[in-house]
Formats: sequence, C-alpha cells, structure tokens
Amino acid sequence: MRFRFSVFLIFLFFLGILTLSDENVSASTLSDQKDIRSTSTEFQSENMAHLSIQLNQDAVVLNSNMDGIGTIYKNQIIPVTKINDELYEIQGRFDIGTQYDEKLYLKDPVFTEAPSVTGRNDVLKENLIDDSITFNEGVTLSSFFQSTTPVLSIDSCITFSSYYKVQNQIVIQWNNSFYYVNPINHELVEDTQDSTKQEKEITSETEEDNSLSLYSPQESLNTVPSVRSTGTQNGVKKLMDIQNFNASDNYFEVTEVFVTVYDNSDGTLRPVGYLNKGQVYPRIGDFGDWHQIKFGKKYGYVWKAATKVANAYQIKNENKGVNNSGRSFTANTNLTVYDNTGGSLVPFGTIFKGEKYPIIANLGDWIQIDFSGRIGYIYGPAVTVDFSTNDKYFKVLEDIVTIYDNSSGSLVPVGYLTKGQVYPRVSDFGDWHQIKFGNRYGYVWKAATTVDNGNSIKNENRGLLNSDRSFTANQSLTVYDNTGGVLTPFGTINKGEKYAIISYLGDWIQIDFSGRIGYIYGPAVTVGFSPNDKYFKVLEDIVTIYDNSSGSLVPVGYLTKGQVYPRVSDFGDWHQIKFGNRYGYVWKAATTVDNGNSIKNENRGLLNSDRSFTANQSLTVYDNTGGVLTPFGVINKGEKYAIISYLGDWIQIDFSGRIGYIYGPAVTVGFSPNDKYFKVLEDIVTIYDNSSGSLVPVGYLTKGQVYPRVSDFGDWHKIQLSNKYGYIWKAATAVVSNPYIANENRSSVKFGNILFKALQNLSVYDTSSGSLISFGEINMNQTYRAISEYGSDWLKIDFSGRIGYVYKPATEVTYISKTIFLDPGHGGHDSGAADGGYLEKNINLSVAKKVKSILTGRGYTVIMSREDDTYLDLYERAGKANQLNADIFVSIHTNSAGKSSSPVNGIESYYYEYDPEYPSKINVDMHNNPERVSRSITLTKIIQEKLISYTGATNRGVDGASFAVIRESKMPATLIELGFITNNNERQKLVSNSYQDTLARAIADGIVEYLKHY
Ligand SMILES: [Zn+2]
Repeated sequence: MRFRFSVFLIFLFFLGILTLSDENVSASTLSDQKDIRSTSTEFQSENMAHLSIQLNQDAVVLNSNMDGIGTIYKNQIIPVTKINDELYEIQGRFDIGTQYDEKLYLKDPVFTEAPSVTGRNDVLKENLIDDSITFNEGVTLSSFFQSTTPVLSIDSCITFSSYYKVQNQIVIQWNNSFYYVNPINHELVEDTQDSTKQEKEITSETEEDNSLSLYSPQESLNTVPSVRSTGTQNGVKKLMDIQNFNASDNYFEVTEVFVTVYDNSDGTLRPVGYLNKGQVYPRIGDFGDWHQIKFGKKYGYVWKAATKVANAYQIKNENKGVNNSGRSFTANTNLTVYDNTGGSLVPFGTIFKGEKYPIIANLGDWIQIDFSGRIGYIYGPAVTVDFSTNDKYFKVLEDIVTIYDNSSGSLVPVGYLTKGQVYPRVSDFGDWHQIKFGNRYGYVWKAATTVDNGNSIKNENRGLLNSDRSFTANQSLTVYDNTGGVLTPFGTINKGEKYAIISYLGDWIQIDFSGRIGYIYGPAVTVGFSPNDKYFKVLEDIVTIYDNSSGSLVPVGYLTKGQVYPRVSDFGDWHQIKFGNRYGYVWKAATTVDNGNSIKNENRGLLNSDRSFTANQSLTVYDNTGGVLTPFGVINKGEKYAIISYLGDWIQIDFSGRIGYIYGPAVTVGFSPNDKYFKVLEDIVTIYDNSSGSLVPVGYLTKGQVYPRVSDFGDWHKIQLSNKYGYIWKAATAVVSNPYIANENRSSVKFGNILFKALQNLSVYDTSSGSLISFGEINMNQTYRAISEYGSDWLKIDFSGRIGYVYKPATEVTYISKTIFLDPGHGGHDSGAADGGYLEKNINLSVAKKVKSILTGRGYTVIMSREDDTYLDLYERAGKANQLNADIFVSIHTNSAGKSSSPVNGIESYYYEYDPEYPSKINVDMHNNPERVSRSITLTKIIQEKLISYTGATNRGVDGASFAVIRESKMPATLIELGFITNNNERQKLVSNSYQDTLARAIADGIVEYLKHY
C-alpha cells in the first residue's frame, strides 16, 4: 500500500472558516509540544472513541500547545477522536507552515454525534476499486456520511492506493473517514495562498467554472466521470476561448485542470499522462488540433483547445540539452512529475502507471527525467528501473525466481535464485538475464528482479575455473555462500541437473553459481567422471563388460561390486577398460569416481604373452594379493583371453588393468605363433595338402604323439612333410612346452633324390626307442622324396619334422638326378672386367657352357642363369636357382687387378660368410643355415683344389664373402674367379679354348666329387 503525501500538504477548512496565523505556529514551543504529546498518549489510554460530530456552535481549533489557531463554524461535520470529556482531536494529518504532522484539537465543542457509519461502510466495501488514484490538482472533500458540503481540501500529488466508486462518484478513505471527492477547485486553494496575479487571471478566465465548483458541487461531480477526465470531455471546452496557435509558437500553457497526453504511436490515441493547469511546456510541432510534445522517447499529443499560447520565459526548468542516460523505468503507479527549480517541488505533470520512460539520471530516491521538454523529478521507489544492456548485476525481488535452461530450444527449469540476493549476469537477453549455470547458461525473467550495483556480493567469482568434472544432483540442492562465516543459501539446483565442479573440499563441493562462489553438500550428489580420471569403483552387483569390436555390444564378462578398476580412457557414457588384448566397455552409471588407492594388484607393466586361452565355462578371476583368492571379475564362457603366464594350474592374466588368476583346467590354452610343437589329442588327425588350393587328405598323425611344426597358420599348424607341407587343424591338438622328441629331424636335410610313391596306406615308424612305433600314415598313391635308403627294405623320410621309416617294398622308388645351377657372371650391358680387348662376361659364359656340356654328359641336370649375352641382376640369378630347387649353385667369374698389365695372377674361390652389413633379401631363412654354409665351404674347397691341380695356376686360396649370388641362393653355393684378365700372360690363357677346356674339366670334376658326399 502506498499512501504518500506531498511535503507541503496543506489542510484547510473550506471557504476560509479557519484562518491560519504564522504567530500561532512557533518553533520555540517545541518543548511544550512534547509535553502535550505525552499527555495525549495518556488521554488515548482512557478513551479512543472515533466520532463524526456536527457542530452546533462555532468551535475554537487548538494546536498542540493548546493555542487557539482558528475557528470552525457550526453545522460542519468533523471526524474526531475523543480524548476525554473536554478534548477532541481532529482526525487527519496537518502540516501547517513548517510544522509537520501537527495535532489539532477542539475544546468543549457543542455538537451532535453524526450517525453510525456502519451501514455505509458495507456499501463502500462492495464498491472498492483496488487501483491507485492520484490527485494532480487540489480537490475538496465532502463527508461521505453527512453532508454534501465540502469540509476540507487537499492539494495535489496525493496518491491513494485504492478508492471507491459510489453512484459514479469517487470516494476516498482518509484517516478513518470517508469523503466524496468534489470537483476541482484548485484556483480557490491558490487564492488562499496569496497568488494574487494568478488569482486575477484565473478569476477572469474561469469565473463560471469556479462558481460551478463552489456552489454546485454535486452537479459538477455528476458530470465528471473520473478524476482523469479532461476538460474536453466534461463540457468545459464549450466555455473556453480556443486559442489560435501559429506554427512558430513554440510554447503553450495548459488552461484546463487535467489535460491528457496521448501516445499516437500505434495509430490510436492512448492516454499516457497529464499536463497540469497553468503550466507551460515547449512543443515540438504543430499537429492540426494537437500539439506534439516530447514524452520520453516518444511523442505525446495534447489537445490544443485546452491550451493557450505561451512564452519561454514562463519556464525555469526547460531542458536545454540534457540527454537521457539509456536507462528507463516503468511506472508502478501514476507518477507526479515535479519541477524543483523554485527550491520546492512543484508538480507539473503525471506519467501514468505502466508507462516506460527514459531516465536522465538516478539521484538517490529521485529520478531526473525530461517531461515534455522540461527537467522533472519523479519519486524513485514508485517505479521499477529497467535494465540497460550494460548492467552487470541484478537483485532478486521475489521468493522463487526460476532459472531456465534454453539449450533444448524450450525453457526447462534447472534451479532457483533467492529473494534479496544479487547476482552477476553474463548478458542482457531481451526480457531475460543470461547467467552462468555451471558450464551452461541459465535465463532469469527480468520482471522478478531489479537493477543492482553488485556491491553487496562478497563471493563473486573473480577467476576460479570449473574443473573438467561435474556432478549430478540426487535431490534439490541448496547452494550456500560461505563468505560470512555462516552458510547462507543463495540458490537452488534442481534434482537431476548436471553441474560443473570447481573443486572438492571434503564433504563440500565448490561451484560457480550464477557468477558467485557457492558450496553444495557432496553426499547429496553423484560426482561424475572427468576425462582424466584413471579409476572407477563398481556400485552395482553385476556390471557387464561389453565388447564393441563387432559394432554391437556383446557381453564378455562382469566386474564385481565394491571393486575398483583402472580404466584406459573415458568413452562418453562408458569406461573403456582392458579386456585381455581387447577393450571392454563398462556403463558409467553403475560406477563412481575413485582414486585407485585401494587396488593392490594393479598391473604396472606385466605384458600379455602371445598366447591366449578359451574359457570352457564362466571363469572367476581372482586377486591373490591378500593371501587369499578374492574374486574381482568374471570372464564369460567361450571368450578368448590373453595370458600373461602359466603358474602350475593357475593362469596369470591382466583383467581390467589388474593382475588376476584363473583356474587352468577350466580353459583351453591356445597356440602362440611362436609355438614350435603340438600334441595330437584325437585318434585320427588328418594331414591336408593345400598346394592345389583345396584341402586334400594325404595322411594322418597319431593320437598322443608330439610333432614339431613349421609355423602357425591361423586355425592350422603348418608341418613339414618330406619335400612338401601339410596342414593340421589346431582344435584337435594342444600346446606342449619344451618337449623332447627323440627322432626330431634337427638336420636341414628334409629329403634326398629318391622319389617314392605309396602303393598302399603307409605307416611311418619311429625307431628311436629300439622298436618300430608307428607315429603316422601316408595315404596310398601319395609321392614324397626320401632322405635316403636305409638298408634294402626301408626308406628314411622326414615326416612332420621327425625322422621316420617306411617300408620300401610298399613303395615305387624313382631316383632323381642332381640339378646343378651354373651362373656365368655379368652379361648384356654389364661386361664385367675388361683388358686387352677382351671382356669378362664372354670368358665366363664360354667356360660355363663347357662345364654344362661335361656334366650333362654324365647324367646331371644342368641349368644356366644365362645361355647367351643377356643381362640379369644378381637377385634374379639366385632366385631362379631357388625356384628350380637346384642342388648346388656355381657362379663363374674372371678377376681384375684394377689396372692393365698387372702382375697379379692366379685362381681364388668364395663361399658365403654372413656380414651384417649385407642382410639377405630373398633368402632370409636359409642364407646362414649352418648346413648350407658347411656344404658351401666343402664345395668351394673341392673345386679350388681341382682348378689349381689341373691348371698349375697360382693358388690364391678360398675365403668367405657376402656376394649377393651366394648369399641369396638357398642351396650350397660357390663363386669362382678363374684368373686375372688384367695379367697379360693369364689373359692369353683365359681366352684360349684349350685353357678354358682345362678350367671346365676341373670345375665339373669338383662338382661331381662334391655330389658323392651328398
Ligand atoms: Zn665377375
């Protein structure tokens, strides 16, 4: 409720019945005044009856000093409070001269009590208008209960919070009494205030109007529908002389009591305020029957008929260039605008309730504005100051002010701000404040807030950043300010909201709440994971581990409630964990943040071996660090899982980053790619040949036997089968570590030049125990090569990496001749060494051809890298020999001393010797095979010996070297240097047919002698 008096409210008895004397109101009597007031309090305790009395005789009015200050004539009805039998206090507030709130009394009045007001009060209750009403001009009041005669008048600028309307007349309540509001008689008030000049003007211009007000108040009231009515509406216009304005007239004076200002901006005339009678205003333009004036940021329009031409000198407060600040207010009630230039506040206009109006300056309780081109002041508390876009703070005015999240496109309530608290805001957002809400923005409806300078905030966040961690509220969360030493609530976060954390502080969590540092109670929230968290704890009984490698979630195991696990990384709503050699995924909602300190068996560096097992049943994983086996997870049946190591019956694994143990007999241990052996588990395990591209059964292995294997081949073992390979299905076999196999073929010799064909299914026997034990079978019609004959009845073979014997009469044997690969060095554009018009490549080819001729004649198969003058690179030469499976490789070259006519001469030969500078490219497996190297040395020595013996040339000996051709050929190999082309004497021999014949015979004889050994 707002009930506000102007500072110079004057209470007067009507028509001069009470004459005020300055002498009677003396400041020197203040001390006496106090006494009276204390007496008055005593009186009130005796009898506090409120009455309306009608005087039967004139009565003297006394002030608080009991001095007579005037007289009220008989027949007047006065509201009084009976103090005692003699003294009555006149109800009302009386500001007389400089004396505010003066008490006035009647002593021994002779009166008749006015009738009870009860009945009429009921009438009034039904007619209450719950809206404020402002009197911009002085009005006279008549007692509602007794008389139509005006009994008092009040001056302008009073706002009543409510009023009554009875038979279209305004009734107000003032100091426990009810009054009719009579027509305006502002002029008479001014008359008593000794405004002589105006009095004359007013009298001459509004004489008829005055008489109406004075003598026929009731009739006048009937014609005035409300105090907001303008003169043009109540017929007064007819009585006026309409002034003629020229376009050059810049000022007008208001000639009627309430002249409405209209806003025309939306095309209709909307009343937005009043101008006051007698006041002068600048105008902006002439607009037909209207003046255009400034009204805030808009234009106002004033009906000319209620005005007359005026001059600038009549205004003291014209705005000569003061600009609006950018901020505005909204009027909460009809606002009186005051002129302050005279030292006291003089009303000169009204802004209607609800209007938005620009502010020049905010001056404490007063707000400076431009009102129709004049500087005015309105009372600040009567308005709501609007926010400017630059405002940094707001204060909450209502109990519960909701914070909305707008990120989904619709407004979702996420929390509340607290009444009376002040908050920084991020930005202005139309009708909303944008505030910080964790890592999001929140929006707060401006209407529930007011502008604030933020000075009252002690906990504004001036730089603390959110961590990468959030919590989720398990209940509605109060946010506390801790700066005062006690926890003061200043907001709420709704249940279910996710909110960013600045830091943990024991049970309390520090957050930024709308730009202020707040604390919420930790146990009421679930703290979420930061991407950098390394551990999580399982909260629920069975938390499934999923494998996502197939693109869909496949359960592969479980984690155990209460256990803590390291995680590999954050994966949205999931933890990524280690699961053997794969990743597993665990749903975060079933877990909570943990520091990992409780884990005793974290795997800090043990690596998985290249071996895995397959679970034959659901497998419990145990932690063994406590001295007892404590389950901490499950691997589902059928899952394949990486092994760190075997430990007797127990298998050590990494389970989600922790060292665990599972029971070995419950699993099938798989093969590692590096396993060298396997054991056959089933009765008949077929050997397949895959050389045709399809699997052809060629024999079988025997249950319980152990075999070396050549390599791992997916689901298969690849085995050596004489000169071929066979394939064995892994599922029928098991891993064996470090077996001893008596008849394992540890030689590189897998077969010789004896081909046999099985004429029936052929058992293969192991003789290492002293008796014949079958360890496999070769199917009928299969052909393989034997290593050698053994006596007359047996063939010695390599069968799956073991030495076996088959019964020769059950086979058909063919002897295969040896294949000798001759490599004449150089060729084509590569001439090799040259001197005396001769080229090395030609000598080499000529000798090689002679060697081939000799050996072919002796039944050997001879193949040459080149038969004519063509070029091949070194790898092609070796590769060709490898492809043909040649038995020996002989490269033939002629030497050079680097300069012509050198004395250096003689023959030298080379075998392969490994040099780390020259790694093998196409013969990695065999280049440094000891058997090959050993045989190569033998071959080289035999041929060198023959060459020296046959030619008598200088013996430069044999040596090891890493020449490409002897490195990359997989069979025993040698490289011969026939002599020096740069030695004149030796060159003459080298190019001669007879010497080349001698060299060829020596080489051929050496080869044949070597082949006798192998
Ligand atoms: Zn050469």
